[in-house]
Amino acid sequence: MITHPFTYQAPSTIEEAVRELGRNGESKVIAGGHSLLPLMKLGLAQPEALIDLRRIASLREIRIEDDGIVAIGALTTHRDIAHDPTVRAKLAALAEAASAVGDLQVRARGTIGGSLAHADPAADEPAPALAFDATIRAIGPQGRRDIKATEYFKGTFETALAENEIITEVRFPAPAGRTGSAYAKFAHPASGFAVTGVAAVVTVKADGSVERVAIGVTGAAAAAYRATAAEKALAGTNGDAKAIAAAAAKATDAITALSDLAASSEYRKHLVTVYAKRAIERALSRAKA
Ligand SMILES: Cc1cc2nc3c(=O)[nH]c(=O)nc-3n(C[C@H](O)[C@H](O)[C@H](O)COP(=O)(O)OP(=O)(O)OC[C@H]3O[C@@H](n4cnc5c(N)ncnc54)[C@H](O)[C@@H]3O)c2cc1C
Repeated sequence: MITHPFTYQAPSTIEEAVRELGRNGESKVIAGGHSLLPLMKLGLAQPEALIDLRRIASLREIRIEDDGIVAIGALTTHRDIAHDPTVRAKLAALAEAASAVGDLQVRARGTIGGSLAHADPAADEPAPALAFDATIRAIGPQGRRDIKATEYFKGTFETALAENEIITEVRFPAPAGRTGSAYAKFAHPASGFAVTGVAAVVTVKADGSVERVAIGVTGAAAAAYRATAAEKALAGTNGDAKAIAAAAAKATDAITALSDLAASSEYRKHLVTVYAKRAIERALSRAKA
């Protein structure tokens, strides 16, 4: 039960939503409600006003721009992302991460904008957002701004987004050349959240060697991160089992791994290594296919 009083509005334009959000410091936007409403029921979030984004149809689109960027509207649900043919073809790791979110009901309501704004350290979609070098496009009273995913995740439930900004879309550059991607997740057996989730995007040269690799990791640390030491270790190699294992072993370099009832920090580090290996292997075989 939600015990504190709040007002509710459902504007039909993003400009109106920005105005309403700026009117009251204690306002919050709501998208799928699958993270915010549980917090309100627990009394951990007590907004005075809720601004529902769901009447803003333009936030629900997935489109390909002339330069190949796949722009995914903030209100696109995990389910729609998982089923979209363009996303499945060009951004397999994102489609796999979206289809790994919670259960059918959560995927049918929860949105990519909500997931990135909430920034749960165990959320799935931050990993592919990082691995694909996505940009988070936001609008606020000062206008529009683009935030690189690599500069966006700051800590547990903490991002570069200002309180008066609304995410409008998440922009994924089209992977160039012979590129494959994959997401591998060890899900918490009860909640379904990622104890560890690894997204890998690998580009190979004509001779099959690894030209470029990007690895996003979620669930393991206070915030999702890029495993840059692992990326450096794999780039330029022939991508054989030894090179993959050596790179995966570096996927937790420079992080402080979380420790909780689900997994100790040692076990989490082990999981990251195992799931990084799986994600890289699948991404590499897709790149070569
Ligand atoms: C049972 C259950 C299991 C789940 N399992 C998983 C899982 O396995 N993996 C996973 O990743 N997630 C999981 N989730 C979380 C789910 O994916 C949520 O949908 C997601 O985290 C938030 O999206 P939402 O659209 O519901 O956001 P909301 O709950 O509506 O909002 C969340 C926060 O983001 C803000 N916000 C929302 N949209 C925007 C926007 N466009 N711009 C700025 N701020 C915005 C809100 O103000 C609020 O602070 C689970 C949730 C539940 C209830």
